[in-house]
Amino acid sequence: MSEQDAPLEREDGNRELWATIFGPGGHPVLSKQHWLHRKLPRDPRCRLCLVPFSGLGGWIMGKRGKAPSSRNPHYCAACDGFLETFPGGAEVEMSVLFVDVRGSVGAAETMPPADVSARINGFLERGTALITAHDGFIMAFYGDCIVAVFPPGFCGEGHAQKAIAAAKALCRIEGDDPVPLGVGVHTGPVYIGTVQAARGLFRDVSIFGHAVNICARLAANAPPHSAVISADCFIAAGQQVPEEAENYTLKGASEGVRAAVVTAAPHGRLA
Ligand SMILES: [Zn+2]
Repeated sequence: MSEQDAPLEREDGNRELWATIFGPGGHPVLSKQHWLHRKLPRDPRCRLCLVPFSGLGGWIMGKRGKAPSSRNPHYCAACDGFLETFPGGAEVEMSVLFVDVRGSVGAAETMPPADVSARINGFLERGTALITAHDGFIMAFYGDCIVAVFPPGFCGEGHAQKAIAAAKALCRIEGDDPVPLGVGVHTGPVYIGTVQAARGLFRDVSIFGHAVNICARLAANAPPHSAVISADCFIAAGQQVPEEAENYTLKGASEGVRAAVVTAAPHGRLA
């Protein structure tokens, strides 16, 4: 996944390091930074170490070499240097979440472009805040879609529970003009690691694998204000798979995927 249209190639190497960062238990140094940085105000933050880029915390940490990287504003200078020094990745079991706006093509036909842009940006901002509040790691925005992962190294053993909670919170997003969202959530093995981003100017973190494709397809099947959550995710969360779960036949997948729709009724009640 990437903001760029060009396909990105995953980089291999430093497998143990990346498995430690995103896998069960997490990396002791990064976990300590998460604990500390979460206490400091305020968003936006470095995607990897969660150091704040704004507010008093951002000012203090900026003086300590953790200002946003000049070539890659999603990461602080220290984490950007880390990605350059230790490119690679590892396969880790984690939860994945896709969320996008339903019917945005139709809305774009009837709304002035400035209104469409304001609506989408409002969704991206609120969606990002909700996902990070549930310890999700934002991977990419493309168009009106947010892709996030919930790796055990960031979220603990309850990664699937947190992904489900984030999906339900997203379905409940309200406002003067509630945007009709569709969410997909799945848990499975994901290859997570560095990629060379735009024209090789900097590195980013991306995800690969069948589990990622399944999640994208589940999201595409979600009715407005709903999440399609896979049985694998409910099981990983220690939750009962809803009785109404059905088999989704997904394009490109040889086997169907069992999943259930969770819907937010108006005014935030979950059905
Ligand atoms: Zn950082």
